[in-house]
Amino acid sequence: MTSYVLQVLKCTACETEFVSTEVASCNTFDAVCYTDGFIEGPMYDEGSRLLECPACAKCLWRGNLPAMRYVSESEYSRDAACKALPWAIPVRRFAGIVDAAPWTNNAQESYVRIRAWWEANDGCRHNQSVSSNISCSEVANLDRLLVILDPSDPQEALIKAEILRELGRMDECLHHLDRRFDNDLDAVASQIRILAQDGVRRVARLSPHTGERPARESIL
Ligand SMILES: [Zn+2]
Repeated sequence: MTSYVLQVLKCTACETEFVSTEVASCNTFDAVCYTDGFIEGPMYDEGSRLLECPACAKCLWRGNLPAMRYVSESEYSRDAACKALPWAIPVRRFAGIVDAAPWTNNAQESYVRIRAWWEANDGCRHNQSVSSNISCSEVANLDRLLVILDPSDPQEALIKAEILRELGRMDECLHHLDRRFDNDLDAVASQIRILAQDGVRRVARLSPHTGERPARESIL
Protein backbone atom coordinates (compact mmCIF):
# COMPACT_ATOMS: atom_id res chain seq x y z
CA MET A 1 0.00 0.00 0.00
CA THR A 2 0.98 3.62 -0.33
CA SER A 3 1.47 5.48 2.92
CA TYR A 4 1.77 9.21 3.42
CA VAL A 5 3.05 11.62 6.04
CA LEU A 6 2.12 15.23 6.66
CA GLN A 7 4.81 17.84 6.64
CA VAL A 8 4.73 21.53 7.50
CA LEU A 9 6.81 23.50 4.99
CA LYS A 10 7.53 27.17 4.48
CA CYS A 11 7.32 28.97 1.14
CA THR A 12 10.66 30.50 0.19
CA ALA A 13 8.89 33.25 -1.77
CA CYS A 14 6.25 34.56 0.65
CA GLU A 15 7.25 32.71 3.86
CA THR A 16 3.77 31.29 4.34
CA GLU A 17 3.75 28.01 6.25
CA PHE A 18 1.58 25.28 4.78
CA VAL A 19 0.84 21.58 5.14
CA SER A 20 1.87 19.11 2.48
CA THR A 21 1.27 15.40 2.00
CA GLU A 22 4.40 13.41 1.22
CA VAL A 23 4.63 9.79 0.07
CA ALA A 24 6.31 7.78 2.82
CA SER A 25 6.30 4.44 0.98
CA CYS A 26 4.73 2.69 -1.98
CA ASN A 27 5.40 -0.37 -4.12
CA THR A 28 4.94 -1.68 -7.65
CA PHE A 29 2.88 -4.77 -6.73
CA ASP A 30 0.37 -5.41 -9.53
CA ALA A 31 1.69 -2.33 -11.34
CA VAL A 32 1.96 -1.91 -15.08
CA CYS A 33 5.28 -0.54 -16.36
CA TYR A 34 5.76 1.13 -19.73
CA THR A 35 8.68 1.61 -22.10
CA ASP A 36 8.78 5.35 -21.33
CA GLY A 37 9.31 4.66 -17.61
CA PHE A 38 5.78 5.46 -16.52
CA ILE A 39 4.30 3.21 -13.83
CA GLU A 40 0.67 2.83 -12.84
CA GLY A 41 -0.34 0.57 -10.01
CA PRO A 42 -2.86 0.26 -7.19
CA MET A 43 -0.14 0.81 -4.58
CA TYR A 44 2.13 3.12 -6.52
CA ASP A 45 2.22 6.90 -6.15
CA GLU A 46 5.47 8.71 -6.82
CA GLY A 47 4.06 11.93 -5.37
CA SER A 48 5.33 15.22 -6.75
CA ARG A 49 8.56 17.07 -6.18
CA LEU A 50 6.84 20.29 -7.20
CA LEU A 51 4.27 22.09 -5.05
CA GLU A 52 2.22 25.19 -5.62
CA CYS A 53 2.22 27.59 -2.68
CA PRO A 54 -1.39 28.06 -1.51
CA ALA A 55 -0.68 31.73 -0.71
CA CYS A 56 1.38 33.12 -3.60
CA ALA A 57 0.86 30.30 -6.18
CA LYS A 58 4.59 30.10 -6.85
CA CYS A 59 5.84 26.74 -8.11
CA LEU A 60 8.24 25.35 -5.49
CA TRP A 61 10.62 22.38 -5.37
CA ARG A 62 9.77 20.42 -2.25
CA GLY A 63 13.43 19.60 -1.60
CA ASN A 64 14.36 23.29 -1.50
CA LEU A 65 11.83 24.26 1.15
CA PRO A 66 12.59 24.65 4.84
CA ALA A 67 10.90 21.70 6.57
CA MET A 68 9.34 22.95 9.78
CA ARG A 69 8.18 19.58 11.11
CA TYR A 70 6.47 16.29 10.36
CA VAL A 71 2.99 15.77 11.78
CA SER A 72 1.24 12.47 12.34
CA GLU A 73 -2.45 12.18 11.53
CA SER A 74 -3.34 12.00 15.23
CA GLU A 75 -1.21 15.06 15.99
CA TYR A 76 -2.81 16.97 13.14
CA SER A 77 -6.31 16.27 14.41
CA ARG A 78 -5.36 17.68 17.84
CA ASP A 79 -3.22 20.61 16.67
CA ALA A 80 -5.45 23.63 16.08
CA ALA A 81 -2.56 25.78 14.81
CA CYS A 82 -1.56 23.13 12.30
CA LYS A 83 -5.16 22.59 11.18
CA ALA A 84 -5.40 26.33 10.49
CA LEU A 85 -2.56 26.17 7.95
CA PRO A 86 -3.41 26.06 4.23
CA TRP A 87 -2.57 23.00 2.15
CA ALA A 88 -0.01 22.97 -0.63
CA ILE A 89 -1.17 21.86 -4.05
CA PRO A 90 1.08 19.16 -5.51
CA VAL A 91 1.82 19.72 -9.19
CA ARG A 92 0.47 16.70 -11.07
CA ARG A 93 0.26 18.11 -14.61
CA PHE A 94 3.55 19.14 -16.18
CA ALA A 95 3.03 19.81 -19.90
CA GLY A 96 1.51 23.19 -19.07
CA ILE A 97 4.47 24.37 -16.99
CA VAL A 98 7.32 23.47 -19.39
CA ASP A 99 7.26 26.95 -20.96
CA ALA A 100 7.56 28.52 -17.49
CA ALA A 101 10.84 26.57 -17.04
CA PRO A 102 10.56 26.16 -13.25
CA TRP A 103 14.02 24.61 -12.91
CA THR A 104 17.55 25.65 -12.04
CA ASN A 105 19.46 22.53 -13.10
CA ASN A 106 19.31 19.59 -15.53
CA ALA A 107 17.91 17.16 -12.97
CA GLN A 108 14.93 19.41 -12.29
CA GLU A 109 14.44 20.09 -15.99
CA SER A 110 14.52 16.35 -16.77
CA TYR A 111 11.99 15.71 -14.02
CA VAL A 112 9.49 18.17 -15.52
CA ARG A 113 10.10 17.28 -19.17
CA ILE A 114 9.87 13.50 -18.61
CA ARG A 115 6.51 13.94 -16.93
CA ALA A 116 5.30 16.22 -19.73
CA TRP A 117 6.31 13.40 -22.10
CA TRP A 118 4.36 10.86 -20.03
CA GLU A 119 1.27 13.08 -20.24
CA ALA A 120 1.66 13.31 -24.01
CA ASN A 121 1.82 9.51 -24.16
CA ASP A 122 -1.22 8.96 -21.92
CA GLY A 123 -3.76 9.05 -24.75
CA CYS A 124 -2.22 6.27 -26.81
CA ARG A 125 -0.93 4.54 -23.66
CA HIS A 126 -4.47 3.63 -22.65
CA ASN A 127 -6.19 3.43 -26.01
CA GLN A 128 -4.68 1.61 -28.96
CA SER A 129 -7.04 3.41 -31.35
CA VAL A 130 -5.56 6.81 -30.44
CA SER A 131 -2.85 8.03 -32.79
CA SER A 132 0.69 8.17 -31.45
CA ASN A 133 1.47 11.23 -33.59
CA ILE A 134 3.64 13.78 -31.78
CA SER A 135 2.96 17.52 -31.89
CA CYS A 136 5.65 20.13 -32.59
CA SER A 137 5.79 21.18 -28.92
CA GLU A 138 6.11 17.53 -27.86
CA VAL A 139 8.94 17.01 -30.34
CA ALA A 140 10.67 20.12 -28.94
CA ASN A 141 10.32 18.69 -25.43
CA LEU A 142 11.83 15.36 -26.49
CA ASP A 143 14.63 17.07 -28.44
CA ARG A 144 15.60 18.99 -25.33
CA LEU A 145 15.58 15.79 -23.24
CA LEU A 146 17.94 14.21 -25.76
CA VAL A 147 20.34 17.10 -25.09
CA ILE A 148 20.26 17.08 -21.29
CA LEU A 149 20.13 13.33 -20.58
CA ASP A 150 23.52 11.71 -20.07
CA PRO A 151 24.10 8.64 -22.29
CA SER A 152 26.99 7.49 -20.10
CA ASP A 153 24.39 6.68 -17.43
CA PRO A 154 22.72 3.35 -18.37
CA GLN A 155 19.32 4.48 -17.12
CA GLU A 156 19.44 7.74 -19.01
CA ALA A 157 20.75 5.95 -22.11
CA LEU A 158 17.65 3.75 -21.95
CA ILE A 159 15.37 6.78 -21.72
CA LYS A 160 17.19 8.39 -24.67
CA ALA A 161 16.76 5.20 -26.71
CA GLU A 162 13.03 5.15 -25.96
CA ILE A 163 12.67 8.82 -26.94
CA LEU A 164 14.51 8.16 -30.21
CA ARG A 165 12.24 5.18 -30.89
CA GLU A 166 9.10 7.25 -30.29
CA LEU A 167 10.52 9.94 -32.62
CA GLY A 168 10.97 7.26 -35.30
CA ARG A 169 14.79 7.57 -35.23
CA MET A 170 15.24 3.81 -35.05
CA ASP A 171 18.91 3.57 -36.07
CA GLU A 172 19.90 6.05 -33.35
CA CYS A 173 17.69 4.20 -30.88
CA LEU A 174 19.43 0.92 -31.63
CA HIS A 175 22.83 2.62 -31.37
CA HIS A 176 22.04 3.74 -27.80
CA LEU A 177 20.98 0.19 -26.95
CA ASP A 178 24.20 -1.27 -28.32
CA ARG A 179 25.79 -1.61 -24.91
CA ARG A 180 25.61 -3.81 -21.86
CA PHE A 181 22.77 -3.19 -19.42
CA ASP A 182 22.46 -4.89 -16.05
CA ASN A 183 19.60 -7.09 -14.87
CA ASP A 184 16.17 -5.47 -15.23
CA LEU A 185 17.49 -2.69 -17.43
CA ASP A 186 18.71 -5.30 -19.92
CA ALA A 187 15.24 -6.84 -20.10
CA VAL A 188 13.73 -3.41 -20.79
CA ALA A 189 16.40 -2.64 -23.39
CA SER A 190 15.58 -5.90 -25.16
CA GLN A 191 11.92 -4.97 -25.45
CA ILE A 192 12.67 -1.48 -26.74
CA ARG A 193 15.16 -2.99 -29.21
CA ILE A 194 12.52 -5.39 -30.59
CA LEU A 195 10.00 -2.57 -30.99
CA ALA A 196 12.59 -0.41 -32.80
CA GLN A 197 13.57 -3.28 -35.10
CA ASP A 198 9.87 -3.72 -35.92
CA GLY A 199 9.52 0.02 -36.62
CA VAL A 200 7.01 0.52 -33.79
CA ARG A 201 6.93 4.09 -32.40
CA ARG A 202 4.03 3.81 -29.94
CA VAL A 203 4.68 3.64 -26.19
CA ALA A 204 4.21 0.05 -25.01
CA ARG A 205 3.59 -1.96 -21.89
CA LEU A 206 6.58 -3.87 -20.63
CA SER A 207 6.14 -7.60 -20.31
CA PRO A 208 5.75 -8.53 -16.63
CA HIS A 209 8.98 -10.53 -16.54
CA THR A 210 11.00 -7.32 -16.74
CA GLY A 211 9.67 -6.46 -13.31
CA GLU A 212 10.81 -2.86 -13.15
CA ARG A 213 10.68 0.46 -14.91
CA PRO A 214 13.27 1.28 -17.57
CA ALA A 215 14.76 3.99 -15.44
CA ARG A 216 14.58 4.80 -11.76
CA GLU A 217 14.74 7.57 -9.21
CA SER A 218 18.00 9.17 -10.32
CA ILE A 219 16.25 10.87 -13.21
CA LEU A 220 12.61 9.94 -12.71
ZN1 LIG B 1 4.29 31.50 -1.30
